[in-house]
Amino acid sequence: MKMKYWQEEIETASRETLDSLQSERLIATVKRVYEKVPMYRQRMDEAGVKPEDIKSIKDITKLPFTTKQDLRDTYPYGMFAVPMNEVVELHASSGTTGKQVVVGYTEKDVHTWGEICARALVAAGADETDFVHVSYGYGLFTGGFGLHYGAQQIGATAIPVSAGQTKRQVTILEDFGSTILCCTPSYAMTIAEAVEQAGIDAAKLPLKAGIFGAEPWTEEMRQYIEDKLKIKAYDIYGLTEVMGPGVSFTCEHQCGMHVNEDHFIIEVLDPETFEPVPDGTIGEIVFTCITKEAFPVIRYRTKDLGYVTREKCECGRTFARMSKILGRTDDMLIIRGVNVFPSQIETVLLEQGYAPNYMLIVDRVNNADTLEVQVEVTPEIFSDKAAALTSYEKKLQVAIRELLGIQAAVKLVAPNTIQRFEGKAKRVIDNRKLHD
Ligand code: ADP
Ligand code: ZN
Repeated sequence: MKMKYWQEEIETASRETLDSLQSERLIATVKRVYEKVPMYRQRMDEAGVKPEDIKSIKDITKLPFTTKQDLRDTYPYGMFAVPMNEVVELHASSGTTGKQVVVGYTEKDVHTWGEICARALVAAGADETDFVHVSYGYGLFTGGFGLHYGAQQIGATAIPVSAGQTKRQVTILEDFGSTILCCTPSYAMTIAEAVEQAGIDAAKLPLKAGIFGAEPWTEEMRQYIEDKLKIKAYDIYGLTEVMGPGVSFTCEHQCGMHVNEDHFIIEVLDPETFEPVPDGTIGEIVFTCITKEAFPVIRYRTKDLGYVTREKCECGRTFARMSKILGRTDDMLIIRGVNVFPSQIETVLLEQGYAPNYMLIVDRVNNADTLEVQVEVTPEIFSDKAAALTSYEKKLQVAIRELLGIQAAVKLVAPNTIQRFEGKAKRVIDNRKLHD
């Protein structure tokens, strides 16, 4: 049966109701972590804050931040707020930027995780008749399981394909009748190409929607994937430390990701002063978990940049919406003093009619930063005369300079020569680090 919401009452609750629910849950969470997690008690004592000082959500700014480093310092179970015998599942972040972070879930936490993913699935048009094809990796990575549990909660059929074996993905899409595809946007691209290469008309597949996330992707990329797979594409956001995918999700109006505010408090802070910024202003996104039992993070600094709006959405959901992630403070490239996010280059490439298969190579030559943008072209362009290729490169170079104010070398490369991804894409090779 078609549903507009998974849990209408809470998803459309008034701001007053949400505020008081958040206040009540924040107070209880702070009290609990102060008692159960030595790190939080120590930090709060250092900051001179007692649980009694937290009387409503307004007081959240009195609380100290939590960073990835804190979670590493307490590896593996130091931040758990329940005895280990209550933990029914463990996950871990990928550990690509250092020691991995281990997180745990109680039975109730697992249910909550499924619930927030169920909301995202319903917002993408899912019901119990759907076949949810999950091509996020299953394993310690949180990608696969959240949407798997969510699909099962609404009574849909979960297909735990996991990432990889792209040809097999196509066979399953065709033979099992997958209607909703869940994976990273870059893997959706890879799958779309494989569908094309198999000579299958995407429009004839039963697939109708995709829920893509776990990495930044642009609005242009969304349209590109929609066009290639003939589906509607939805964004889903989350992070291991806070819960996994489902912390926020897009509705059919595609105007930002609704934050599941009954479970998480979102703040946006000035990245330098760490003071809250007004709605609509870009800053670092910070989350506090207010219902999690095993691993509730307090004011966790995500390093993700975006902004928030609390204006009512046409879908009727009242949950605040966060913008697409504009980048991670970690991913920002500083090229000769200019701040550049890979997503900005992606926008230019797609606007200029290229496919989003690209790699950015940053280096330092004679003490000056250099940026080379490698992008694939179609076989027709590539087989064209060298002179024509150069003119395409020049045109792209001008477009990048006009939009971003930086001088980049552009190199058009042959089709299928840039790496394809099954999980999160890696779009930057920064050779400057080699010289440091
Ligand atoms: P890590 O990559 O740090 O090991 P996760 O797998 O938990 O940990 O990834 C979380 C990060 O992935 C987020 O902080 C964010 O940078 C990125 N991310 C997740 N979903 C999205 C999304 N929909 N859009 C942009 N970035 C996303
Ligand atoms: Zn909406």
